[in-house]
Amino acid sequence: MGHHVFTRDLTKDYPVASYGEGIYVIDDKGREILDACGGVVAVSLGYNNRYIKNRMKSQIDKLCFTHTGAFINKPIIDLSDNIMSHLTSEFGKAYFVSGGSEANETAIKLARQYWHDTGHKKKSKIVSRMMSYHGNSLGVLAVSGNPERQKLYAPMLKKQPKAAPHYCYRCPYGKSEGNCSLECANSLEKIIQKEGKEKVAAFIAEPVVGASCCGAEGSKEYFKRIRQICDENDVLLILDEVMSGMGRTGRWFASENYAVIPDIFTLGKGISSSYMPLAAMVCKDKIAEGIKDGTFIHGFTYSGHALAAEGGNAVFDYIDKENLLVKVGYGGAHLFKRLEEMKDKYSFIGDVRGPGYMAGIEFVKNKKTKEPFPEELKLTAKIKAECWKNGMLIFAGTRMKVNVEGNEVEQGDHVMLAPHFTTTQSELDTILDTFETSVKNVMEKI
Ligand code: PLP
Repeated sequence: MGHHVFTRDLTKDYPVASYGEGIYVIDDKGREILDACGGVVAVSLGYNNRYIKNRMKSQIDKLCFTHTGAFINKPIIDLSDNIMSHLTSEFGKAYFVSGGSEANETAIKLARQYWHDTGHKKKSKIVSRMMSYHGNSLGVLAVSGNPERQKLYAPMLKKQPKAAPHYCYRCPYGKSEGNCSLECANSLEKIIQKEGKEKVAAFIAEPVVGASCCGAEGSKEYFKRIRQICDENDVLLILDEVMSGMGRTGRWFASENYAVIPDIFTLGKGISSSYMPLAAMVCKDKIAEGIKDGTFIHGFTYSGHALAAEGGNAVFDYIDKENLLVKVGYGGAHLFKRLEEMKDKYSFIGDVRGPGYMAGIEFVKNKKTKEPFPEELKLTAKIKAECWKNGMLIFAGTRMKVNVEGNEVEQGDHVMLAPHFTTTQSELDTILDTFETSVKNVMEKI
């Protein structure tokens, strides 16, 4: 291997990425890889984007970092203004950190301190959903619903209550989409009653699920009920928009698709298009005002990093100037049209779901019964490897089985296509052609 990097898989030889251009990453041997998922749904504006680069270069000449214990800086003032300009006036504060896990840790800790400082000292539990992912540090791993990522660390994780997923393709209650009483949303109410509303601080959910159920999205009705349950029980609603925010669904924030207003939400990944590690926790003024003496007991060395924040400002301006939300809208329509055609054509595509440039695809052995392929086949890994062989990177979901109020729900293998917003129409077709060929190749062999 000839290096000392602690890689993700220590047994594997990774190519050395040398440079990036547009939606391609080129390794040190000159091999080009088409990135059909922004790395991990993180890069949205292409590699080597001159505009972002130049904005960051001018910031480097001024200031990269000062500690938030002593200063704030112009880029974080501008970035919080940029975020607020797309929100209702109830929102007033943004807290900047270096990644999605940190942003969600910040959100759940703020929820706890808000209730504590406003006289509800018992409120500390965070309800989340099965089939979710909120990050890899121990606090947010505990609120994630992803047994694969949790099981090794289970003895170190605080047990946090879990509600049902909003997974209409395999409804845990045996209902069909639009033909139900929102049992999944109501499971939140049952959990709050069981735990005691005086102990529950917040409910956290991804408006569109990432790794734990690629592309499974909420609905207006679902989130209306969730908002109502939270309000009736004095539970804060936190939306994790680390993956779905910053234009990925064709709106600045995915919550707009479902007409739901959270109390707190988080952003990451696309907020800097990954030019710098950057994420944010955004809250309503009333939450910040609830903090006693104005001191939130929290903070990281790199909170409010000036250079990273300027990357975020450049992203906001670039998306606006290039009209990229509209582009994701019509590009997404084309992406889904072609994926739906593939679903009609092939027996092994069971579900195609998601908004904008978050396209989840679930594979099944039997389309009628929705029987998944055997887990031992490791189909997701095979499809990802075949796409790679054909020069393209895609996003792999984590397959899981969960028990929802006594009903077992087993997912099929699932993956996601999450193109950069700057992808051209012909590049989008190359992504879809390569995907179709790769999946067919794998299916012919099994
Ligand atoms: N929340 C969601 C929805 C995510 O998809 C991720 C990462 O994939 C995270 C949180 C964690 O973000 P990070 O890996 O930047 O810590």
